[in-house]
Amino acid sequence: MLTNDQLAQWDRENFFHPSTHLAQHARGETPTRIIKTANGCHIEDRDGRKLLDAFAGLYCVNVGYGRQDIAEAIADQARELAYYHAYVGHGTEASVTLSKMVLDRAPDHMSKVYFGLSGSDANETNIKLVWYYNNILGRPEKKKIISRWRGYHGSGLMTGSLTGLGLFHAKFDLPLEQVIHTEAPYYFRRPDVNMTEEQFTAHCAAELEALIEREGADTIAAFIGEPVMGTGGIVPPPAGYWAAIQAVLEKHDILLIADEVVTGFGRLGSMFGSHHYDLKPDLITIAKGLTSAYAPLSGSIISDRMWKVLEQGTDENGPIGHGWTYSAHPIGAAAGVANLKLLDELNLVQNAGEMGAYLNAQMKAAVADHPNVGEVRGEGMLCAVEFVADRDSRTFYDPSQKIGPSLSAAMASRGVIARAMPQGDILGYAPPFCLTKDEADTIVAATVDSIKEVLG
Ligand code: PLP
Repeated sequence: MLTNDQLAQWDRENFFHPSTHLAQHARGETPTRIIKTANGCHIEDRDGRKLLDAFAGLYCVNVGYGRQDIAEAIADQARELAYYHAYVGHGTEASVTLSKMVLDRAPDHMSKVYFGLSGSDANETNIKLVWYYNNILGRPEKKKIISRWRGYHGSGLMTGSLTGLGLFHAKFDLPLEQVIHTEAPYYFRRPDVNMTEEQFTAHCAAELEALIEREGADTIAAFIGEPVMGTGGIVPPPAGYWAAIQAVLEKHDILLIADEVVTGFGRLGSMFGSHHYDLKPDLITIAKGLTSAYAPLSGSIISDRMWKVLEQGTDENGPIGHGWTYSAHPIGAAAGVANLKLLDELNLVQNAGEMGAYLNAQMKAAVADHPNVGEVRGEGMLCAVEFVADRDSRTFYDPSQKIGPSLSAAMASRGVIARAMPQGDILGYAPPFCLTKDEADTIVAATVDSIKEVLG
């Protein structure tokens, strides 16, 4: 058997890791953690060290690790039919069944689902469909996409542009010119501390309206947003936000893309964030929770009103010029069918709501009074603790102090994975939906101890 040292060397010599400090990693200055196995909410590395994964991988292993039903569905599918494509009307039992299961769970006004492989490619599909839609409707100027600062929508050329985080733009010549950004719905970082939530919501809607007026509504095709911001800091919207934003979009005939890659299939304790916040999107992006990451699969769910125009487009122009070799891959689809069944059978969406509320309440009670905790926030099975140098003046730490990463490392040394969110000093928690009370208590206790160690 290979030693860990040998594997770590191969890793440094050969492996280009995403979202990693490449030079430090190649020099061996950052740890290599090689994961060997996992079960429930726990992962185990090659040294036999067990960690409670309070971020469910990248908030994707929603049903928890080690689910044999899904593993068997994948194996059965691979044995019976490992691959067939979905072009020109082809399908497999798994992909057709999954499309029905997705539409049964989606908001009523949704019509069809297109399957891709990742959240990024699904959003790429969405933007192409939006552009196609406006071309078919004879308004070729209506093409710009509004996204929010701190939104996360992927890291391709278009989707990296939609993402509103500096690290994903700098030195990559992004964002592309068709993408414009508006204010993040981030109440804790509101421009004026005296604003109420309602006033801040009105401010966000006014900023959006002003941007639309500056650019011209006839140049703007769509607005994309996560129901609850994820990677940008785990930020639930302020009161009334989505109603106010949807009113502006409707007034200017701008489509809404709900990016539900994180919130889709139960993370908020509702099947979709669109149900949770009463959104009426034209497109919904799905990925992570669709298969709980047992196999790569994503999707774009398309509304009735868009679908009608897409059909009209192919009557006028021929087959839609869009597709990947692996669209609706049967192994991903089989994983999706087994995953959504398990979600129902084990009542996991309800558990996500209940245990998420417990985790958030316990976290608040345990750490909210610490002088360096600016805010504890969350929704469903999402929770975040944001740290500040000074609470009264809302002074943030200098990023060079690396408070977030130090806290995350302190958590890992206590056997719990919490994510240092990439912009700000924010610990993020998004455990699997099967989290128990004991496990939630372990997460909170590790947070209390880690704060004591790093911040006193
Ligand atoms: N959209 C959201 C809301 C996400 O959180 C992510 C990934 O975290 C993506 C899109 C991109 O998904 P992927 O990493 O599968 O390309």
